[in-house]
Amino acid sequence: MIAENIARIQTNIAQACDKVSRPRDSVTLVAACKTQPVSAIIEAVTAGVRHFGENRVEEANPKIVEISATIPDGLTWHMIGHIQSRKAKEVVAYQGQRRFGLIHGVDDIDLAARLSRLVTERGDSVLPILIQVNVSGETTKSGLEAAGWAEHATIAQHITGQIKALAALPGVSVRGLMTMAPISSEMEDSRTVFRSLRLLRDHLQDALGIALPELSMGMTDDYPIAIEEGATLVRVGRAIFGER
Ligand SMILES: *Cc1c(COP(=O)(O)O)cnc(C)c1O
Repeated sequence: MIAENIARIQTNIAQACDKVSRPRDSVTLVAACKTQPVSAIIEAVTAGVRHFGENRVEEANPKIVEISATIPDGLTWHMIGHIQSRKAKEVVAYQGQRRFGLIHGVDDIDLAARLSRLVTERGDSVLPILIQVNVSGETTKSGLEAAGWAEHATIAQHITGQIKALAALPGVSVRGLMTMAPISSEMEDSRTVFRSLRLLRDHLQDALGIALPELSMGMTDDYPIAIEEGATLVRVGRAIFGER
């Protein structure tokens, strides 16, 4: 079941790439495996998935340790959820080791500063992060506020200043942006949000002269649309593992 689901998703990803003339390897499938048992994750690995996303660090770390005993190499773990500042330490290292390859949900400056300090104190290599941005304006969504950035120069300036400050932090490396589209029954409603995130990324690259290659956007209901709009990382849970 999991293997069939993954095969179908890989086909959909390839089709979405073809539609907009993107190379297939420009998109990485991140299997969102929160609440899934280790056995289901191993099934996904067997079916070819190498990237996994967890959203609660206290659930993720023991699972990562257990899976590393079976599959020592080749997997990348993504922290995709909101991080409480008191949990930052466990995101940076667990049982003395770096466990996550990319942190998607960095949604405020204080959290980024804390991660920066923890990495620097440990003398670790730089921790790659994505900045979560709220481009939809939906009040329930976390992330740096950027709704209306294209229409209002003051909003664009504000978010640009924030990203500049984040990019200057030692110990972390801003690799790109992440967003959550509003929950909607219509796939196409997400398109505007995804497009806005990509255009904001382009604007920030130009304004700051930095590279922000990664765009983490798109989930079970809208990942093909996200790919058409430039997603490099799609976070897919239910379409792989079934309803939670
Ligand atoms: C669970 C989760 C996903 C995957 O959602 P599905 O609808 O199951 O595909 C993506 N992103 C985040 C941040 C999540 O927590």
